[in-house]
Amino acid sequence: MTAGRRLGQLAIIPVAELKGVGEKKAEGLEIMGIRTVLDLLTHYPRRYLDRTRQTSIVEMKEHDEAMVLATVKRVQSRRTRQRRAMVDVDVFDGSSYLHVVFFNQPWRAKQLSVGTQAVFFGKMERYKGRPQMTNPVVDLVGDRTGKIVPIYAQSEKAGLATWELAGFIEEALARAGPMADPLPEEWRDRLDVVDRTWAFRAIHNPESMAAAQAARRRLVVDELLRLQLALVMRKRAIERESKGIRHVVDGELVRRFHGGLPFPLTGAQRRAIAEIAADLAGIHPMHRLLQGDVGSGKTLVAVTALLMAVQGGFQGAFMAPTEVLAEQHGLSVRHVLGRLTVPDEGTLTGDRPLRVELITNRTAAGERSRILGGLADGTVDLLIGTHALLEEKVAFRALGVSVIDEQHRFGVEQRAALRGKGDDPDVLVMTATPIPRTAAMTVYGDLDVTVLDEMPPGRSPVVTHWARGELEVAEAYGRVETEVAAGRQAYVVCPLVEESEKVAAKAATVEFARLSGEVWPGLRLALLHGQMPSKEKEAVMASFRAGELDVLVATTVIEVGVDVPNATVMIIEDADRFGMAQLHQLRGRVGRGGDQSWCYLLGAAATPDAEERLSAIERSTDGFELAEVDLEIRGEGTVLGTRQKGQSDLKLASLRRDKEWVGRAREVAFAIVDADPTLATQDVLREELRLLVEPEEAEFLFKS
Ligand code: ADP
Ligand code: MG
Repeated sequence: MTAGRRLGQLAIIPVAELKGVGEKKAEGLEIMGIRTVLDLLTHYPRRYLDRTRQTSIVEMKEHDEAMVLATVKRVQSRRTRQRRAMVDVDVFDGSSYLHVVFFNQPWRAKQLSVGTQAVFFGKMERYKGRPQMTNPVVDLVGDRTGKIVPIYAQSEKAGLATWELAGFIEEALARAGPMADPLPEEWRDRLDVVDRTWAFRAIHNPESMAAAQAARRRLVVDELLRLQLALVMRKRAIERESKGIRHVVDGELVRRFHGGLPFPLTGAQRRAIAEIAADLAGIHPMHRLLQGDVGSGKTLVAVTALLMAVQGGFQGAFMAPTEVLAEQHGLSVRHVLGRLTVPDEGTLTGDRPLRVELITNRTAAGERSRILGGLADGTVDLLIGTHALLEEKVAFRALGVSVIDEQHRFGVEQRAALRGKGDDPDVLVMTATPIPRTAAMTVYGDLDVTVLDEMPPGRSPVVTHWARGELEVAEAYGRVETEVAAGRQAYVVCPLVEESEKVAAKAATVEFARLSGEVWPGLRLALLHGQMPSKEKEAVMASFRAGELDVLVATTVIEVGVDVPNATVMIIEDADRFGMAQLHQLRGRVGRGGDQSWCYLLGAAATPDAEERLSAIERSTDGFELAEVDLEIRGEGTVLGTRQKGQSDLKLASLRRDKEWVGRAREVAFAIVDADPTLATQDVLREELRLLVEPEEAEFLFKS
């Protein structure tokens, strides 16, 4: 149907078949991970040199950024008085001489040998009357012509220059010829993107910067579309494959539960519950992500979903990533449930107690088998435990709904494991680390997403100060004292120590001694760290909760789950060592009651990133806003993790720069898949997806 070469065909032509690529060069390319013609074509320029902006040295103005093409006339390596390496270069472009200085880049001497032609991009200053650039960007362009010159990432080890790569790519383009386009013209028009052959040519050899941009956009759309297609197909395939339970979403048990709450649900909670109820009532099992900031009331929503299972005679499971979290969830689930009873006509009173059980590695063997027995015979309504339980052979009589708390871990395998148990239960994945919409669509693209975007009323945002100086630290300490005097409590979080939990514990112990001995000898302090025996940890937490302690000095063990509404101050030491999500989680431990709370970030920022991080935390208490900033600072790699193979295909697309395209690609993917679930009529697309997804996954996706 569509003429032209397919990516799959290009993926089997080794680079050695190209003109000019000998054995030696092929080895260099291999080092760079380039084996095939397709690899070469998708080795995109890192940036472009816009020669239309080139000036001559005589025309350069002081303090202005300028780009000049010049030849190296003299090179000299030396050391400054501070023993820094310095390379001194004189270059000439026919109009005048320019003095170029490099600090701490000793290798420049070799790179810029006499006679080398290069482009220098930087700010021109005068030094002793002579024009000079310090540490400019340098591009060795060889004798390449053209207004826009693509610059490729190179590797020293590969021994390939950017112009050599450009030459190989030109060969690859010639070899490829016209390419098959998986997007029909109608779609290209709708998306306002150019065709693929044009895009591949223009990204490597653009006429103008605008052409390069248009080419990039098309290839970004391709990448995002392939990823979304894989995700959307997976979602639809799961729906096809599974037999869901139609749950009784309207029932007495949930009515009782909501009626017994001491507060009304927030609007966001009601919306979330309605979305979940619609899923549960439907024939397809739910696969939904519940995102919400710390304290937004996710537990209540999750418990409602579980009770919807129970009221139809099914069981519910609530799984956490760690033992500590499982215990914490156990506490909070039991707390919100109170003394809820299940309507049961078989009993004298017409009611029976709801049976909730918790299994951790501390559950005694006898107790454990009693609980497992109850799961098998259906007398246990809700089970709380760790993900590990899913991997064991825990047999439910009839598992109806599972809630998985991911706590910034993206466990596809665990989700899959859950699916296998029982009769396709509905799954709600919860995450307390908000991630931006575009990232959610990418990381969790096979799930539907619900966002709790509203806090329960009566919370005032935690006032956050970044205490950089001694005076401000004194103010933070003062705040602890006045709050404690008013009957409140405080946390001091000790610096994050990367080495090990042991080292962290030791550091916390030292800090505890200092604070209790020198700073607050009159207050009741206690220490909490991960190396303490569980019994001891629990005892400390219990007395903190009971108000018998004023200040808890702790490592990040308190990051999650600790819920003491009376705690109103948090001090985070060496705050720049923490990631943004972590700081936000930590801060979420205060401000949980109705009282004004404070958070103090101590210490200076060691890097510009840390500076941005801490300012953002100081400025905003909105987890989603912070997540956007985090994505901005760290880039998507770290945010996405290594969730699926499709992500390695994202060479050009950036979740930050190409935000709007993520959503549009998803819409297009739904339109394509819903019209043709296994892409039976989309030869080109189907083949491209097969290139990207694992063979087993492909088997699953393309099976009709
Ligand atoms: P999350 O799990 O999202 O961090 P939680 O479910 O632990 O939040 O809720 C945080 C606190 O808010 C709990 O103490 C809970 O009882 C309370 N809460 C939940 N929903 C509401 C509501 N609608 N109105 C008032 N308080 C609420
Ligand atoms: Mg269902």
